[in-house]
Amino acid sequence: MTSKQRSSHEKSAAEAVDRTTTRAMLKLVRAAQPISRAELARRLGCNRSTITGATRPLLDAGVLTEGASLSPRTVGRPPIGLRLRTEGTVLVGVNIGVRQTQVGMARVDGSILQEEVFDTPGDAERELAVIKEAIGRLHARFAHDRIEAIGVSVPGPVDVERRTLLYAPHLGWQNVSIAETLQPSAATVIVENDATAAAMFEASRRLKDDRSGVWRDFILVRAGTGIGIGVVRDGEIYRGAGASGNLAGEFGHMTIVAGGKLCVCGNRGCWERYASATSAVMLYLGDRAPTSGAPPIRYAELVRRAEAGELRAQAALRQTGEYLGIGIANVISGLGIDRVVVSGRIVLGWQFIREPLQMAVQRALAGRLVEPVIEAGLVTGSGLGGALEVAVDHFLTEAAERTRVVDR
Ligand SMILES: [Zn+2]
Repeated sequence: MTSKQRSSHEKSAAEAVDRTTTRAMLKLVRAAQPISRAELARRLGCNRSTITGATRPLLDAGVLTEGASLSPRTVGRPPIGLRLRTEGTVLVGVNIGVRQTQVGMARVDGSILQEEVFDTPGDAERELAVIKEAIGRLHARFAHDRIEAIGVSVPGPVDVERRTLLYAPHLGWQNVSIAETLQPSAATVIVENDATAAAMFEASRRLKDDRSGVWRDFILVRAGTGIGIGVVRDGEIYRGAGASGNLAGEFGHMTIVAGGKLCVCGNRGCWERYASATSAVMLYLGDRAPTSGAPPIRYAELVRRAEAGELRAQAALRQTGEYLGIGIANVISGLGIDRVVVSGRIVLGWQFIREPLQMAVQRALAGRLVEPVIEAGLVTGSGLGGALEVAVDHFLTEAAERTRVVDR
């Protein structure tokens, strides 16, 4: 084959790979690196020449690198494979929690370099000023590295452009222009609902070993102060149809108890009023505590008491698990997806919650020929891990876009 023929052959192979496939390939490289071209081709269901054509511009652009693994654990011949190039670039994750905010910096492979944690101020303007200062401090220590993207995870729904937090019921914030405020500090800012960010995190984490693709569709239930839902369809976040564009966030306020406890949204009997980590604490306290303001003990303390053998603490967690299961059965029925990952602070008490949750789901779905798989996710996915995943996702999407143009 002459060099001209080879060049045109590679070009057509590259053109056969659309943007979506290039993005899927980058995501797989990140999840399973170092990974060989043969393995990539096998997992993505295309031939090796297609992979070679698609990886060349990414190698040229310095997004990917290929070579022997330098892992000290390697015995014998080191595996040769593709990996994301980490030098020179960093990503920032910001997790705005109702109680605390985390700001962290990581490499594109997900390794966290440094992080700061502080109590979330009650005022949105103050919060953004503090975040901006934290990003500046973190970047000062890695001044030679370019910030590729900033992912912000927020406790409420976001606009379609993913730049503004529309409202955060537990913080009392409305229309907070997060991207616009943080933008001048560095790179592109992507604002994402916290349950969606956690779903991205779990999707990426499960990709590595999911050769049969069973985790390409799942529901993420994030339970912390409130409850939010993220939906993954065919490996990507499902955002719902139409201009409203964000399905996530609203399930927490579906009614599961008629005329039940008063919720922060103004309605009664909402799911999150019975099945969130905060609700578990309220239940334990006998609901004498007020509906607003911080409860006198934290969820982690409740779990600690249950682990120490306190029966009342264990009963509160079991009851919360049952309520969580009732809502999850509704979500499974509504969306027709039978795999669920539970994330957020609630999973700290998973050993007490799991069984009553599973039983409630089975009862509700009895006779419907589905056997749902329900697993606990990592707590970090609902925090800084999720926020960083939002940044990584943007970085990989941009890389797939950029190199497609370079290849023409
Ligand atoms: Zn509500």
